[in-house]
Amino acid sequence: MRIVLLGPPGAGKGTQARRLSESTGMKHLSTGDMLRGEVASGSELGLLAKEFMDRGDLVPDPNVISMIRNHIGDPSGVLLDGFPRTLIQAMALDTELKFANVPIDRVIHLSVDIDELVKRLSGRALCGDCQTPYNLESDPPSKTGICDRCGGPVAVRNDDKPEAVANRMKVYQELTAPVLDYYRSHGNVAEIVATGSPDEVFEKLSQAIRSGKSGVMAN
Ligand code: AMP
Repeated sequence: MRIVLLGPPGAGKGTQARRLSESTGMKHLSTGDMLRGEVASGSELGLLAKEFMDRGDLVPDPNVISMIRNHIGDPSGVLLDGFPRTLIQAMALDTELKFANVPIDRVIHLSVDIDELVKRLSGRALCGDCQTPYNLESDPPSKTGICDRCGGPVAVRNDDKPEAVANRMKVYQELTAPVLDYYRSHGNVAEIVATGSPDEVFEKLSQAIRSGKSGVMAN
């Protein structure tokens, strides 16, 4: 099964994708996590990506596409989180899937209103090792700066700082919202209002996956 999770920064795609991957065994493919891994390892791609990421800009399409290409056909199924983020990426994904002769089974859009997004992103922090998200105001780790799950360092991402957040929202509207329109024009996008607790959103998401209609075949 191939699922694409779309939604603005702060909609909870990462949290939900992690849970879904744990409960279904599907591979969670987060281009944000992969790129942060490249930055942490100091690779050539990481050095290039860091500048774009710190500003809240998108890493260039060719770099992201070649990073993810080999993972898309994973036989355990994939849950795409944060990809595609541009029309060029969406078309590259179509080409890869068409080549593998597999459809996108569900496109799921998590929507949250802008005031709620800004509230969620301010204070958001992440474990640098296992990527578990926290909110320093409403859901901090039990020991300051230390992940409850793996003991790794918990810190606010550079791109969750206010100027970068404003830019990420703008980039989402300009470059990623058209991807949603692209999938809407091709077939069925399941719409989920992603407010409420993570458990409530997870229930809606699981329901959308269980009750989804036929897949969106790349054309
Ligand atoms: P995320 O963790 O998904 O919010 O991604 C964090 C940052 O990584 C984004 O703000 C971009 O700079 C970069 N990034 C993640 N996915 C992509 C993508 N599909 N295309 C370009 N840049 C990406």
